[in-house]
Amino acid sequence: MIRLNCPVCGARNSTLVDQRAAVPILMHNVFSSAEAARSCKTGELTVRRCDSCGFAWNAAFDPDRIVYGPGYDNAQGYSPQFQTHLDQRIDAIFAAFPGEKPVNIIEVGAGQGDFLKRMQARAGHRIGRAVGFDPAWRGSDGERIDDGKSFDDGKSFDKGKGGEIRMYRRIFDGEAASIAAEIDADLVLSRHVIEHVSEPMDFLRAIRAGIVGRPATRLFLETPDIDWIIRNGAFEDFFYEHCSIFNPASMATALRAAGYGDVAVTTVFGDQYLWAMARFAKDDAQPGEPKPATPAEAFSTQTLVSEWQGRIDAWREAGGKVVLWGAGAKGMTFAQIVDPTGGRIAAIVDMNPGKQGKFIGVTGHAVVTPEALHAIAPTHIVIMNPVYAPEIRAMLAANAIPASLLTLHEDLT
Ligand SMILES: [Zn+2]
Repeated sequence: MIRLNCPVCGARNSTLVDQRAAVPILMHNVFSSAEAARSCKTGELTVRRCDSCGFAWNAAFDPDRIVYGPGYDNAQGYSPQFQTHLDQRIDAIFAAFPGEKPVNIIEVGAGQGDFLKRMQARAGHRIGRAVGFDPAWRGSDGERIDDGKSFDDGKSFDKGKGGEIRMYRRIFDGEAASIAAEIDADLVLSRHVIEHVSEPMDFLRAIRAGIVGRPATRLFLETPDIDWIIRNGAFEDFFYEHCSIFNPASMATALRAAGYGDVAVTTVFGDQYLWAMARFAKDDAQPGEPKPATPAEAFSTQTLVSEWQGRIDAWREAGGKVVLWGAGAKGMTFAQIVDPTGGRIAAIVDMNPGKQGKFIGVTGHAVVTPEALHAIAPTHIVIMNPVYAPEIRAMLAANAIPASLLTLHEDLT
């Protein structure tokens, strides 16, 4: 079934941005053999973009095909640049609550609790109680993940000591709401979750409805920005799991329509992500006219892919060998589209130990360690995310890897 009405504003006019018949259902799954990788589950990608609010969605998405469980690994925290980004977000969150009073936190889609633990390590005295929900949580339900220095009743606050953090293996459902209701939340946090949700309006309303009677509670969301993707021709940022991609205007529209007030949307992480802040209480401000979105017509995956294939084929004809750096969703998608039969790209480097030695879905490209580059001896390394380019360049220089480095959306603009 193809969904033509905009899931955010309901408008009927939309533009087809990208279409692919068979993409992997779960991007972060890696496989222990190339054969298993090549027979992974696939689905259809049909990215449409609302002409009215600028929201983009996979019109062919089937939510029943994806079940997030403890095997899901989307850990992204291995890069120093990414860790800096996380700390900046933590500082921005606490800056929204002036003074030193500890705040109670609910995180929806908390993964393995890494962000909550990082919040505690960076500013533990600012955390009263915190609860994280995630269907992929691998510990026991309700398990504590804090550093054990909890103060007893929330009143005898002792500066320098962090509060209690508990994790629950569930989505933000009715039971999660009843757990959340016990902690009187000052803030609700959800990073890189809403792009996986096919009914984003229901998601925003459920969070607000599930945490009743707290008009001052703040919501913080982080999610990719469709405007950045289109502006940069980043076809590698479209994949099955990301069925809902906002831009600043559609995010503001969605938050206000879901009943939130005091909405502010900015871009962070080299403008790749949206950072949205809102209050649970509605304000008097009327939603403004959505800003015109970057025209989607300018975007042609086929043109961009052909350019890359021509470039890589020319290097190989001259005796070259090409590897990608980054086996996250971007690198996997790039390899699967640019090199569907596995002849162009020799391997994909990744810092995540859980991916090294494994193979990516559909094409079966191998994921290797940075050290493996000495044996592979590539002539060209294509870096997937421009944000990480400086640290990767430095690492390659320090290890005397004499390859030419190119960065998507940096060297090519
Ligand atoms: Zn719309």
